[in-house]
Amino acid sequence: MTQEWICTNEEETAKAAHEIASLLTFPSIVFLNGDLGAGKTAFSRALIQRLMNDPDLIVPSPTYTLVQMYDDETIWHFDLYRMNAPEDIYDLGWEEALHAKLCLIEWPCRLGSLKPKKYTDITIDVLQDDVRRITLSS
Ligand code: ADP
Ligand code: MG
Repeated sequence: MTQEWICTNEEETAKAAHEIASLLTFPSIVFLNGDLGAGKTAFSRALIQRLMNDPDLIVPSPTYTLVQMYDDETIWHFDLYRMNAPEDIYDLGWEEALHAKLCLIEWPCRLGSLKPKKYTDITIDVLQDDVRRITLSS
């Protein structure tokens, strides 16, 4: 099943993330694909804020930490862009993340053969300027 959203600004992307939050069933592993600056972190922020029921929750990009946890470690947010080798994921709490309520992964391609078999796939494409296409497939 594939669903698509066209978002003309960051606020619309947040709305799509809120809709997708209500479509997910838990536990869930969610892959976020898209170029640098596509909006994967902006999308994740809106999704986590909705799940935590806190629109002001601070959700930093895990660019350097590679992972951030929320809600008593039931929500895990990875950004694997800077991970050198797939096996490095085990030092980041991977085994626990896989069984958490939500495991959200930017740059899942960095996992190589360690990619989980069952996941929800989200791709964000930059169409022009602030316009993004979000494609959800599961
Ligand atoms: P990524 O995590 O994919 O590298 P970020 O979420 O960190 O990207 O950054 C996306 C950037 O694009 C932000 O500066 C955001 O304000 C901007 N932006 C512009 N239009 C949109 C949109 N429609 N959806 C999401 N972000 C957008
Ligand atoms: Mg990011």
